[in-house]
Amino acid sequence: GQEKKGWNLDNSYSRLPESFFSSLNPPPVRSPKLIIFNEPLATSLGLNVQELQNKDGIAVLAGNQIPEGASPLAQAYGGHQFGHFTMLGDGRAILLGEQITPLDKRVDIQLKGSGRTPYSRGGDGRATLGPMLREYIISEAMHALGIPTTRSLAVVTTGETVIRETELPGAILTRVASSHLRVGTFQYAANWGTVGELQALADYTLKRHFPEVEADESRYLSLLREVIKRQAVLIAKWQLVGFVHGVMNTDNMTISGETIDYGPCAFMDTYDPATVFSSIDVQGRYAYGKQPQMAGWNLARFAEALLPILHENQEQAVKLAQDEISNFSKVFHSNWVNGMREKLGIFNEESQDESLIEGLLSMMQKYRADYTNTFRALTFERHEDTVLFGTPEFAHWHELWQARRNRQQETEASSHQLMQKSNPALIPRNHRVEEALEAAVKQGDYSVMERLLDVLSRPYEHSPEQADYSTLPAESNRPYQTFCGT
Ligand code: AMP
Ligand code: MG
Ligand code: MG
Repeated sequence: GQEKKGWNLDNSYSRLPESFFSSLNPPPVRSPKLIIFNEPLATSLGLNVQELQNKDGIAVLAGNQIPEGASPLAQAYGGHQFGHFTMLGDGRAILLGEQITPLDKRVDIQLKGSGRTPYSRGGDGRATLGPMLREYIISEAMHALGIPTTRSLAVVTTGETVIRETELPGAILTRVASSHLRVGTFQYAANWGTVGELQALADYTLKRHFPEVEADESRYLSLLREVIKRQAVLIAKWQLVGFVHGVMNTDNMTISGETIDYGPCAFMDTYDPATVFSSIDVQGRYAYGKQPQMAGWNLARFAEALLPILHENQEQAVKLAQDEISNFSKVFHSNWVNGMREKLGIFNEESQDESLIEGLLSMMQKYRADYTNTFRALTFERHEDTVLFGTPEFAHWHELWQARRNRQQETEASSHQLMQKSNPALIPRNHRVEEALEAAVKQGDYSVMERLLDVLSRPYEHSPEQADYSTLPAESNRPYQTFCGT
């Protein structure tokens, strides 16, 4: 704990072998201006809410001043990008250090968009205002939905322009994460490091994220098992809210089990497993319905990276790793089915539940029903004028569902309550996010975004205001397309 509010930084990552990072200060920017600041998050981190919004505080959020106790660095990592392995690293981010919170949690404070690093390759190291605000909005919405995620503390503009297709305002996002350890960090160690370095990374990770298994006899196998579990839980949560990450490369998969890298992500409107938003994902590798499979693929790459330290006999190591990997789909599936039961107000388990769930989903796909709004309508028994609700198929399904709910001890009222807290009233609708970003970036009007952030912070509150934010985009706004790397 700490008594005084303010930076309370440690730098455990910088005590790893030096091949894991490059120490450097973020290059200064011309004239920082605070655009948005997350007061509740700052408070929970033990930061000084007033000071951080003053000139000196903003200078820190822009990388122009280094806070006391910081040891700034860029992290090295590799990754499979759309299946192809390559060396990466923080090309446009600097880790300032780890803030120790009043509750003694350790979280990374990272500046994203802060300028070039030794890992920038051809890039300029910069980020632009629109995408940084977009990350702020969606990551905070994910947090409010109860989904593990990196958080957003602030966005500042730099007073410099960044050249993309046109000149755009430069910006820096302060990202807060349990850590920035990735599957790609382990791949980096396995490919370009010594076994000793790989082991140092694994021990560091165990201590930081999985202290409860640190003393296990086969601690690296435990590490693999725990990461698989956390990712299975996370991906189930994505699927349950209709979140499409869009760029599930192994460098964008955390070891902590938090969602990271809000580039081309978006929420699905009409239910369709083939949903893809990212303009570069032409093969649909990271389509909504393929996310569990791709997570499993990434975790197999994680297991591969760990092989040298899983067992002295490599044949044995492979066998052990395969056993753990095969658990992913089981843990994912049980989390997903249980989550779906909750969305349908079902408390206990029956063997027919999966076919009930699949029945609903296939009707939703057939009649192009909106994913979020369908569950909301079921919650409130308001089967408004959608195509789906008018079909005899739905009427039949509804009878089965009612009969199913009647076969449990719990009252109708508690079933309804379960549905209310399992079905969000709203998600960050793509056209609402775009509207907020347009007002902010083109007009310098941040009020639209602030209102949106406010309603998104209470996604399970079923009020008329929320309903207004749940309406679907006009047909002209579809299909929605996202872009990354800006
Ligand atoms: P992402 O697709 O966001 O996961 O980024 C992949 C890699 O590209 C990461 O290593 C980033 O640090 C790097 N990168 C993305 N944008 C830039 C940029 N503007 N300048 C330098 N590196 C970048
Ligand atoms: Mg990334
Ligand atoms: Mg990115």
